[in-house]
Amino acid sequence: MKALEDKIDKEGLVFPGNVLKVGSFLNHQLDVDFLMEMGEEIGRLFENDGVTKIVTIEASGIAIAVATAAKMHVPVVFAKKTKTSNLNGESYTANVHSFTHNKDYDIVISKQFINKEDKVLLVDDFLAVGNALNGLIDIVGQAGAKLAGAAIAIEKGFQGGGDALRTKGIKVESLAIIDSMEDGKIIYRH
Ligand code: 5GP
Repeated sequence: MKALEDKIDKEGLVFPGNVLKVGSFLNHQLDVDFLMEMGEEIGRLFENDGVTKIVTIEASGIAIAVATAAKMHVPVVFAKKTKTSNLNGESYTANVHSFTHNKDYDIVISKQFINKEDKVLLVDDFLAVGNALNGLIDIVGQAGAKLAGAAIAIEKGFQGGGDALRTKGIKVESLAIIDSMEDGKIIYRH
């Protein structure tokens, strides 16, 4: 999505450790008009996939998930992050390792909100090595739901998570894929 690449070029900041900050429109301040454009594009990409539910992870996935839902007219469920899993049998949980924050956390979704009748579209702001998405895919499997695929705003292609999922046959659509960002220079895959 050319408009997203332009916005990253204009407003994105590259930090040590291959971290891209887009706090001006996606991760801190939210550019809602632009989020709606991204949501429309994701909605188009998955319009024929029978999606019944959008699933994301709090907090930074929620905005783009909501924008996508405004186009697709299905509910959004966000996995909650916890330090310790409270296994009471009423929730699905998975463990996720975050390289950006160098810590593990559990993600939790109540069994109430995802079930085997669902066809789930995963939506997130960033895809790097894929741990966050793999945690969500694990939960979709626990629920016996079907996976429509994953839609991401910004994929850091050089970290391999997206391609690993595509190799497994999962439909992964990213609105911008960054192939490198060495010395602050961002190069996109087309
Ligand atoms: P993964 O699990 O694929 O390695 O990383 C995905 C998660 O880590 C995303 O949900 C996102 O919150 C965070 N993340 C990974 N890389 C970046 C980055 O370069 N910038 C920002 N803002 N978040 C990132």
